[in-house]
Amino acid sequence: MFLMWIIPLLLIGLVVYGVSAGNFVSSLKPAASRACLHCNQAVQNDWKNCPHCGQTL
Ligand SMILES: [Zn+2]
Repeated sequence: MFLMWIIPLLLIGLVVYGVSAGNFVSSLKPAASRACLHCNQAVQNDWKNCPHCGQTL
C-alpha cells in the first residue's frame, strides 16, 4: 500500500517546508521593531539611543 505511506510523508514534508519557509522569511526581516525599555516607544534594533526619550538602548 504505497499511498498509505506517501500521504503522511507529504504532510510532514509540507510542515517542514512551511517551517523552513517561515524561518527564511523571518531571516529576511530581522529588524522587527522592539520597544524602548524606558518610554516603551517603538525603536529599531540597530538604534543606539531612543529618539523619544534619549536613553541608551
Ligand atoms: Zn525611549
